[in-house]
Amino acid sequence: MIVKDWCSFCGECAGVCPRNLIEVKEYALVFNEGSCKECDTCIKACPVKALEKEEN
Ligand code: SF4
Ligand code: SF4
Repeated sequence: MIVKDWCSFCGECAGVCPRNLIEVKEYALVFNEGSCKECDTCIKACPVKALEKEEN
């Protein structure tokens, strides 16, 4: 997951992840991507569209 510069670390995305994979630190978002099911719920939940999927 790519986190854009304008992320405000509001925690909205972390709150909606069904697997609880997102941790909000003071100035960082930590993704435990190993078990991400790519549901995109976090991306849709972000009020400022600061999340983008990383293409492999
Ligand atoms: S919902 Fe968006 S702005 Fe809020 S912490 Fe997540 S990525 Fe950042
Ligand atoms: S895509 Fe879904 S499972 Fe993966 S981090 Fe976002 S909300 Fe969680």
